[in-house]
Amino acid sequence: MEEIWVFIEQDEGIIEESSLGILGKARELGEKYGFKVVGVLLGYNIRGAAETLGRFGAEKVYYINSEHLSIYNNETYFRVFEWLIQKYKPNTILFSATRNGRDLSGRIAVRFGSGLLAHVIELDYDDEYNLVGKVPGFGGNIAAVVRCIKSRPQLATITPGVFDVQVFGGECKVENIEPRFDLEPKRMKIVMRERGVSIDISKSEKVVIAGMGTGGDLGLAKKLAQLIGAELGVTRPLADMGFASRDIQVGSTGVSLKSRLAIILGASGAPHFTSGIRDCDIVISINKDPEAPIKEYSDYFIVSDIFEVIPRLIKLLEG
Ligand SMILES: Cc1cc2nc3c(=O)[nH]c(=O)nc-3n(C[C@H](O)[C@H](O)[C@H](O)COP(=O)(O)OP(=O)(O)OC[C@H]3O[C@@H](n4cnc5c(N)ncnc54)[C@H](O)[C@@H]3O)c2cc1C
Repeated sequence: MEEIWVFIEQDEGIIEESSLGILGKARELGEKYGFKVVGVLLGYNIRGAAETLGRFGAEKVYYINSEHLSIYNNETYFRVFEWLIQKYKPNTILFSATRNGRDLSGRIAVRFGSGLLAHVIELDYDDEYNLVGKVPGFGGNIAAVVRCIKSRPQLATITPGVFDVQVFGGECKVENIEPRFDLEPKRMKIVMRERGVSIDISKSEKVVIAGMGTGGDLGLAKKLAQLIGAELGVTRPLADMGFASRDIQVGSTGVSLKSRLAIILGASGAPHFTSGIRDCDIVISINKDPEAPIKEYSDYFIVSDIFEVIPRLIKLLEG
């Protein structure tokens, strides 16, 4: 039986949750099209983590245990994947569109001449078992359907948070694979590691999202967020320009939200952005343009200048 692999991303033994959501989606596809779902986990002291993957949809796990794999590095992770792919010839490999997932999948695609669907928000196969994904495309104005044409393995990166983690029963075979080559990276050595403070807003109940209408001044958005107990999010241009961390960018190349409440300040509503808010329960947008496309995605649409309405709202909330 051909295999769908899911790259299970970990960092010092902690599994990245979006990989588990992808495992569940892979299981759905595997059951529909007759593929076996395999979690591929590289790391150090990861046997325990490998054994949990059956619960999230894996029918088999390949894990490679080495101190040189404890933290992601492109050189060794790629070499291991190159070797595994030649050995087992998977049909499909799925990655979370995290920094590491994007980095690794791109190099594998070039090495094997594979089709790579980037940042998909939906995934399926056509009747010739080619991978088909939905991607916000052409500047974000349409949801494009893209397909891998007859390349194997075929690859996709999936926007983090798009697929919910699911729980499955059944057997899962866990195999420790030992490559017969030196795993120590030759070109790069990590000398020191400093953890930044990274925030995961994909599970936040309430989020205030600042768009370009703020002009990069996040003071009002932060204050409003603090007063209502919400996290801060931003549209991509604000992250691109360095006004905020990429961790809190909402949209197809950022995170997808499932919040109860999203308040959006000065964002136009490009599809690359709205794909990240489509699962929010209540969306309130404030925009000075009465025709801004975000209106279509909002439960409440307030036509106003944020620099007028938000200070008043803050004053009210401060009582
Ligand atoms: C491959 C690709 C991936 C992308 N991924 C993402 C992604 O993940 N997330 C993302 O956000 N974007 C993404 N984009 C970019 C996306 O297409 C849009 O360009 C972006 O979302 C626009 O950001 P914005 O709405 O903040 O800015 P703009 O489109 O410039 O909109 C600003 C809005 O603010 C309003 N405004 C201005 N001043 C005020 C004021 N004082 N008060 C009230 N309203 C005001 C304006 O009327 C306007 O509607 C991607 C693009 C590409 C090509």
